[in-house]
Amino acid sequence: MDLVSLLRTTFGFAGFRENQEAVCRAVAQGRDALLVMPTGAGKSLCYQIPALARGGPALVVSPLIALMDDQSARLTAHGLRAARIHSGIPREQARQACREYLDGTLQFLFLAPERLRVPGFPEMLARRTPSLIAVDEAHCISGWGHDFRPDYRTLGEWLPILRPAPILALTATATPRVQADIVAQLRMQEPALFVHGFRRTNLALEVVEMPKPERNAFLGRYLADAGTRPAIVYAPSRKAAEDLAAELGRRFPAAAYHAGLDQAVRERVQRSFLAGELEVVVATIAFGMGIDKADIRTVMHAALPGSVEAYSQEIGRAGRDGRPSRAILLHSYADRKMHESFFERDYPEAEALARVARVLTEDFQPPEQLWSRLKMDPEVFGRAVDKLAAQGAAGFDMEGQVRGLLSSTEAGKWRAGYESQRMHRRAQLEGMVAFAEATQCRMSAMVRHFGDRAGAPCGQCDFCSPETATAVPFAEPGAEDVRALRRILRALQESGSRSVGKLQAECGGGDRRAFDVLLDGLARAGLLTLTTEMWTNPEGREVSFRKASLTHEGRSWSQQDPLPVLLRAGGSGTDSGRSTTTRAKKARVPAEAKSKAAAVDEKTWTPEQTELENRLRTWRKQEATAAGKPAFFVLTDAALRGVVAASPRTLAEVATVHGIGPMKVEQYGAAIVSICRGAAG
Ligand code: ADP
Ligand code: MG
Repeated sequence: MDLVSLLRTTFGFAGFRENQEAVCRAVAQGRDALLVMPTGAGKSLCYQIPALARGGPALVVSPLIALMDDQSARLTAHGLRAARIHSGIPREQARQACREYLDGTLQFLFLAPERLRVPGFPEMLARRTPSLIAVDEAHCISGWGHDFRPDYRTLGEWLPILRPAPILALTATATPRVQADIVAQLRMQEPALFVHGFRRTNLALEVVEMPKPERNAFLGRYLADAGTRPAIVYAPSRKAAEDLAAELGRRFPAAAYHAGLDQAVRERVQRSFLAGELEVVVATIAFGMGIDKADIRTVMHAALPGSVEAYSQEIGRAGRDGRPSRAILLHSYADRKMHESFFERDYPEAEALARVARVLTEDFQPPEQLWSRLKMDPEVFGRAVDKLAAQGAAGFDMEGQVRGLLSSTEAGKWRAGYESQRMHRRAQLEGMVAFAEATQCRMSAMVRHFGDRAGAPCGQCDFCSPETATAVPFAEPGAEDVRALRRILRALQESGSRSVGKLQAECGGGDRRAFDVLLDGLARAGLLTLTTEMWTNPEGREVSFRKASLTHEGRSWSQQDPLPVLLRAGGSGTDSGRSTTTRAKKARVPAEAKSKAAAVDEKTWTPEQTELENRLRTWRKQEATAAGKPAFFVLTDAALRGVVAASPRTLAEVATVHGIGPMKVEQYGAAIVSICRGAAG
């Protein structure tokens, strides 16, 4: 079965994109499969090609009419036979589609999920075995998915009669929990799991804690460097987007984009951004759907997004052309507070919904009567009705009158669905906060969130490579910091892992933020890991706490060894000088220029020495990647320059280089000597 020629002759594409072929092959062979790939990656092809390869009509379930219309038009344009059945399709046309499906002249039949609840409809479909069943946007089936659709929930019930057709579930956003739910709900049989494309190799992620009042000024300075543009800045509200766009617009072409603007304005903004006339768009989440601009260099989050799913979709718009790009996330404790208060407002306790549910009747009632009877704020009332409607327990008419949709025997049936939706939303927020606060490779943390293999550290995020971070400078620790760092390692070596609070007390207390900066530096250097653990207190409440544990490297580190640590600026109280003003200045210096700027003696170097430095850097990068460590863990920049200056020919000479202790000599001495000898000869 030659899937590639099928692809070429049918769609005129040159070849498969990465990962598409493996999925097509599995499904073409009749295997169930779950495919999780980002938006725009080309998931549709993964049901289209196997459907054609297997022959016979494929059923495609999709939650959105617009998606069905779009897909079906595309297929028709390629000379394929596709039809749709949804609420926008006249009855006669739908009947015709059924006939063509049954006599096998159709290749694709798109279905809205609610159609399958029509009595007799699934049985009618079952008179013919489809070539495959594709369930698009499959996360909608899970109460743990953010766009839960009650109509999707019953899908699994009628699938068995359509077997043995393979089922392919497709989605751009499914955490492992949602994945498991999709597999269970659709009753998939030993599905092949494909989770791909969340790791981006040309994207450097930075996560920066920054107080809100500092952010606008920071953005202005950061984006002043033309190399950082075109850029999208995501703002937390319409007002924030407009204010920031006005401020940035004084320095370079910038505009706001949000759902509150006229359609015409939005289209104009989108067009001029695509054409390159606008260089910065400050947007709320409404921006970016269907934006295909390849050269976006920076995606900036001026506030904490509501979920890792949203974050990953938004940063995914940077660097589609494959060139190096950056995504910078600014956050602080205040963002978390803001999200929590939104959550309390948008997801009230089930009891608040129950009060509203109790006054709804089979007949429509004017909402004013109801909220005054309940003595409830109209807005609160409106949100409660919305939530009930989402669970199929309430409905509106054209005048906005409200009624209940559940019979008295079903009363309260909405509760479980709502509770799970509410829990899911809370989990999303916690996931986002955990991502922002995690002390580990940002890219690995993100792909792991989607259930992809974490893989090697990316080597370019602010965690893997603090020396090239642009939003916040990292500095070598001062003498007092070094003493404090050694004390922390000693304490951990004596007592094993500790809660951060206890550890700090053992190390003499002091400012918690400064202490966190030290721990953060040690974690970036790979000497310890920081995790969030749960503990049940005597009152039976679960409380979370941070725990520091030594890594293998941390355990084998000895007090004579150098400390390959860089510290985040603006936090440590022990050494000043790493203040927010240096942060601003450094932000403008491109990464490469910055690491070179530290090389004092670089100017006086001979061409041979420059060549040696480059070779050492290349080698260091390879070692670091292989070890899954940041580059400076192998050798700090200062030690590397020391090697260049000394150009050691023996292990003993390597040992004399400042910053290279016995452990490093043992580990890397031979390689260093051979590189230095090679450079000379
Ligand atoms: P998704 O559903 O993953 O968001 P789509 O299936 O809608 O993405 O595909 C996004 C775009 O990529 C479409 O315009 C599609 O035609 C195009 N595309 C998909 N696969 C290929 C390919 N192998 N070669 C060229 N273009 C492709
Ligand atoms: Mg799609």
